[in-house]
Amino acid sequence: MKLVFDIGATRLKRGVLDDRGGFVSIDDRLIQGDLQTELKSLIAETIAKYPIGFIGVSFAGQTTDNKISSAPNIDLGELKGADFTEWTRRRFSINGAIDNDLKCAALAEAADRSQVSALFTLYIGTGIGGAYIENGVLIRGANNNAGEIGHIPFEKTPFLCGCGGEDCLESSASGTALRKWRDYYGLQERTLSELNASNEPKAKEVASRFYRGVDRAVRTSAALFNPQAIVLGGGVAVSEKSVLARARAAANNAFRSAVTVELTRLGDKANLLGASMLQG
Ligand SMILES: [Zn+2]
Repeated sequence: MKLVFDIGATRLKRGVLDDRGGFVSIDDRLIQGDLQTELKSLIAETIAKYPIGFIGVSFAGQTTDNKISSAPNIDLGELKGADFTEWTRRRFSINGAIDNDLKCAALAEAADRSQVSALFTLYIGTGIGGAYIENGVLIRGANNNAGEIGHIPFEKTPFLCGCGGEDCLESSASGTALRKWRDYYGLQERTLSELNASNEPKAKEVASRFYRGVDRAVRTSAALFNPQAIVLGGGVAVSEKSVLARARAAANNAFRSAVTVELTRLGDKANLLGASMLQG
């Protein structure tokens, strides 16, 4: 059996899969205290109950070569700079692996659409990110950051991106961007569709900016990778139907492309599923 975790900015999701890849259990909690103490106790609790042979982790931050390389808001404890496989072997005598959440999601999406040989995964949730898989090969780049479309330059913003960069796409088209722009303009908490339907010019502008960002993400990924399909996922894309419609319209304008845009069929389980496909 496999034990998998999906580590977000504030939440930690745990799943257990049987040998056929089906979920036996999934639960989720707020991260309290340091990450390694929390992980150690959850792993110990799970292996006491199930015969776990592998531990896979999807991580909402930068990972390189099975190590967490950047996690600005998470207290990592002894996981900082550690090789995750060595850590799980030393602590629990079990093989493990860790990868960036978009890379995990892309592995799961590609497995779910095995007939698509060139697939770009575009997720719009807290952030906006992508990953490209061609003929089963995940394109990683030099530091595992290939496809991170949230950090291409886009329209001017009065605040910095979470990566420290100026005018990143993620500062215009992501859940975090909606929150930052609402705060900046002093708008009350509203969803993307509520902002779009508003009569207030500033609210409408926040939504329009978001949609222009979706256009940019779709047309840029189509031009750079020439995918057969783009699979759209992430909390904002899944909950807001207008994002799929907008992405499909943008795909029709993409460069010499017949790319289709489809919504994820994996809901919020893609990261956990992808974590179970990592190699330890
Ligand atoms: Zn950025």
